[in-house]
Amino acid sequence: MKSRILMCRPEFYAVDYVINPWMEGNVQKSTVEIACEQWEGLHKELQAHASIELIEGRKGAPDLVFTANAGLVLGSKVVLSRFYHPERQVEEPYFKQWFENHGFETLSLPNDIPFEGAGDALLDRSEHLLWAGYGFRSELQSHSYIADWLDIEVVSLRLTDQRFYHLDTCFCPLSDGYLLYYPAAFDRYSLAAIEDRVPEEKRIAVAEGDATTFACNAVNLGKQIVLNKVTPELRLRLEGKGFTVHQTPLNEFIRAGGAAKCLTLRLDEEPLESVTHRRTQVRRTLRLDGHILDKGLLNQVLDEIVENGGSFQILSLEPGQQRNSSSSAKIDVIAPDALKLEEIIARLIGLGGVVRADEEQDVVVKKVEQKGVAPEDFYITTIYPTEVRVQGEWLPVQHQRMDACIAVKRSGKTVQADCCLMRDLEVGQEVVVGVEGVRTQNKSPSMSKSSHQEFSFMASEVSSERRVELVVEQIAWELRRIRERGGKVVVTAGPVVVHTGGGEHLAKLIRDGYVHSLLGGNAIAVHDIENSFMGTSLGVDLSRGVVMKGGHQHHLRSINTIRKYGGIKQAVDAGRLTSGIMYECVKNDVPFVLAGSIRDDGPLPETEMDIIKAQQRYTEEVRSADMILMLSTMLHSIGVGNMTPAGVKLICVDINPAVVTKLSDRGSLQSVGVVTDVGLFLSLLRRQLDSISE
Ligand code: NAD
Repeated sequence: MKSRILMCRPEFYAVDYVINPWMEGNVQKSTVEIACEQWEGLHKELQAHASIELIEGRKGAPDLVFTANAGLVLGSKVVLSRFYHPERQVEEPYFKQWFENHGFETLSLPNDIPFEGAGDALLDRSEHLLWAGYGFRSELQSHSYIADWLDIEVVSLRLTDQRFYHLDTCFCPLSDGYLLYYPAAFDRYSLAAIEDRVPEEKRIAVAEGDATTFACNAVNLGKQIVLNKVTPELRLRLEGKGFTVHQTPLNEFIRAGGAAKCLTLRLDEEPLESVTHRRTQVRRTLRLDGHILDKGLLNQVLDEIVENGGSFQILSLEPGQQRNSSSSAKIDVIAPDALKLEEIIARLIGLGGVVRADEEQDVVVKKVEQKGVAPEDFYITTIYPTEVRVQGEWLPVQHQRMDACIAVKRSGKTVQADCCLMRDLEVGQEVVVGVEGVRTQNKSPSMSKSSHQEFSFMASEVSSERRVELVVEQIAWELRRIRERGGKVVVTAGPVVVHTGGGEHLAKLIRDGYVHSLLGGNAIAVHDIENSFMGTSLGVDLSRGVVMKGGHQHHLRSINTIRKYGGIKQAVDAGRLTSGIMYECVKNDVPFVLAGSIRDDGPLPETEMDIIKAQQRYTEEVRSADMILMLSTMLHSIGVGNMTPAGVKLICVDINPAVVTKLSDRGSLQSVGVVTDVGLFLSLLRRQLDSISE
């Protein structure tokens, strides 16, 4: 018996709007004559193998020609499409009417759950399942309705390339279990799901060239494949598997983002035999509390879910009524499988989401089997204060930092949880895996203690030049308060501090007791010492701004001198080094750590060339810091940022806005970015500190 296919003559076809990348630049560029001619060509090819039924075209519904998006047919049932874009929603009643007139039982999804029919849902008779796409048009949640209504196993595939916005643009199950697809259009989970179901010898992956001429948007009827165009190589591969390829030009429709498959809908899809109704979609309820609306946290959480391939349903939202009242939301996080759900939940826990109290469970731990290697699915820490549930009790995790594991240590009745770097793991140590029994606070305790008004400027933001003076005033005020209460300020600084003339100001800050630890590389010390010895920085006379003859050798000579003395401290003690940043550190007992890098000349004897040791020493200095001033060194500032828990105020000063954003945008609520010249910043800061100290 011939297959039944629904098509629509393109009398009213046009590109009237832009809802996918193919339409860009093509508005009003198509012609009905060429479209009709190409459509007739396709119709003729298909008619040889199928009986074609028609739906009437309608004015004002130019995409009605793409009948694949009418709905998903299985037996006598059809799940009607709910279009994502309003431009296509006009088609819905026409398709509904047609199905009703032709004896189908129509099923409609709730209003706000988009699903674009057979464009995003493809039956695979060999695997006895429905492949369903999501990511651009159809909503992941639609898949569970379809699974229930049609009593069918649904495997969700996430589309990641806007050009392949419907599953049928990049994926085509063929007869005898073959699959024609474009792997780059999917995320890695979806690729794993495909590889899990379809054996390698049955997968026919196409390259970008074939994908962009819509080779996967093919109509397959038995061993016949009808499509727009394929490369000779792909044609040979298909023929090698016993298929006959019919090419019929459809470029007029590609202007709107569709080709052969999009222009057709199979009407004779019989229910699958021996269906195993496996529900792969999983969900978990999370609660979010606090200033989730005014701080934009709710948005961040929802974006995080969608960007990572999940979907959500907001079960309840109770907004705080006053400025200071907190809000609360309950959200169902939905993912195509348990693994993906776990990955998303881990991210949300990092943002402060908590699982429902009645679902609370103890952490799951696994033993380290190989020194320095964590169990596969280890929980990766964030900057936020974290707690783990062990034997029914929530324990705070010590030494919070990001990108570490959580090691649980038990001795007798006491249990302790610590952030532990992967490289420090010992065989037999217990490490938290998965996300059960882990919760974080998006608001650090030290923040809640500090006055909200005083630190309102400390919101994560990048300030413009005109705000610099205001920000400097507030930083100066805070520096003074930290000094008064015996707190700790750590500075990370790059050589630009010296090149821009900021060295003397930083030296003064150290002398005046505002800096309690200095972290940097070889260069900050080298250029500071060169400046002290010779008045130059990389050979440039800093007082006159001119390059000195032979100046490029100055820094090497300076390194050599320090090496001769055995170190910076020795040079100070011997009276050879008499001014500058490093001099003030030595004189005022301010510890400094110089971490080595591949760029380093010399290096200076103090420069720690063992990076692991340097990281450990940095970590010790950062511990108990109240504020970290990051001055124009991307390398060292990022390094420091990774080891700093939330709640430490970060001030990032850099001339490049991208660097400032990167440094301040670590989710820390107390970071401020200052886009300016670091020399200017330091001179303003010094002036301000001098004036408030008078
Ligand atoms: P980096 O690229 O990590 O950071 C430099 C930052 O300074 C950049 O983000 C840049 O945007 C910013 N910047 C440039 N001009 C600025 C200005 N006028 N005001 C404010 N910000 C400005 O480089 P780095 O930290 O300087 O050096 C990386 C590593 O190389 C360090 O370990 C350093 O010690 C080493 N190094 C060694 C030598 C040497 O031994 N001779 C020389 C240079 C660097």
